Amino acid sequence: MSTSGLDVARVRADFPILHQEVRGRPLVYLDSAASGQKPQAVLDAITHFYAHDNANVHRGVHLLSERATEAFEGAREKVRRFLNAREAKEIVFVRGTTEAINLVAQTFGRKHVGPGDEVLITELEHHANIVPWQMLCEQQGARLKYVPVDAHGDLVLDGLEALLTPRTRILAVTHVSNALGTVVPVKELVRRAHAKGVPVLVDGAQAVTHFPVDVQALDCDFYAFSGHKLFGPMGIGVLYGKKELLEAMPPYQGGGDMILSVTMEKTVYNRIPHRFEAGTPDVAGAVGLGAAIDYLEALGREAIAAHDQALLAYAEGALGSVPGVRRLGHGQERSGVVSFVMQDIHPHDIGTILDREGVAIRTGHHCAQPLMKCFGVAATARASLALYNTREDVDALVRGLHKVREVFA
Ligand code: PLP
Repeated sequence: MSTSGLDVARVRADFPILHQEVRGRPLVYLDSAASGQKPQAVLDAITHFYAHDNANVHRGVHLLSERATEAFEGAREKVRRFLNAREAKEIVFVRGTTEAINLVAQTFGRKHVGPGDEVLITELEHHANIVPWQMLCEQQGARLKYVPVDAHGDLVLDGLEALLTPRTRILAVTHVSNALGTVVPVKELVRRAHAKGVPVLVDGAQAVTHFPVDVQALDCDFYAFSGHKLFGPMGIGVLYGKKELLEAMPPYQGGGDMILSVTMEKTVYNRIPHRFEAGTPDVAGAVGLGAAIDYLEALGREAIAAHDQALLAYAEGALGSVPGVRRLGHGQERSGVVSFVMQDIHPHDIGTILDREGVAIRTGHHCAQPLMKCFGVAATARASLALYNTREDVDALVRGLHKVREVFA
């Protein structure tokens, strides 16, 4: 039992993948920010769907199609509850955070961003929250601007009002930085952007895994996350959008399910959320995501948040004890990841030596090259923590880092 009240030993027993050796050592998985592992309940839900309920949704009159539709729409309702959205129709199933942001850029963006307009992002963003906006700005003759970060990895918010001009059409910002772990005060940003009439999209890929998120309390206009980081399957994700905004947006892709009627002359588009879900959706993925949400809610999201915070504090302290390690990101509020470099040792070498010890971390630019540039590095080593990680995992990381030092001594 951890100090937070989360029974981590029991949690670990729920994740079959963790109980294996890699390279002759017990696996220490510290790469959940890249993708989370899946509890047995998620694996069972997917298998059960394919073994008992598999059929296409929204189409058939037969019982299996009815059951598949119920499972799919049931998962949508679970996501609604998870985010505290007002209505299930505000939840659009997509492939992941990347697709959610591209959807908003190409529908809301194409409609509202014109020549000379501005899109505001931040220097903390993952490429998924940079490139779709760059593409939109190129298409529309608009300008991409960004809120800078300071040396701690916090956003410099003093100049926010000056960046929110009468030409700003949307602010797109991450909730938690995947590269540094900085938690962005999105509620405050939403308030300040709304005061200037600017809608806000929040990239929640690294937030939903660590603490409860309430989209009504945040008052954000769009919120995106990926199922696979939330201990659900790959290939499913969520775009939350306020009903009034989604209803006014043109469709993203055309095809089956997103229509009410089609003639050779004209198509009448379906209501939300189906208007944005062209073609056969990833029903099993949605079912698996629903099971992941059930699993997290049964454990208690506050308990998970407390565990994650306590373990992060422990990891930051433990890394501080390794000579030559320099942590990046000392922001005011942090979550989930420790990013670091070691003097004269390339992060790739750190990752490779740790792998030999059974410790899985991520090394590289973390799809955040502008942020890396801002810190004057090309890459970092990043250990990321989840509900199934323990102090022993962190201790194994630290032992591995001492090995790295020995190798390069
Ligand atoms: N945004 C953030 C903050 C992320 O960490 C990631 C994934 O690492 C993404 C977006 C993209 O997520 P996906 O690849 O699941 O679409």
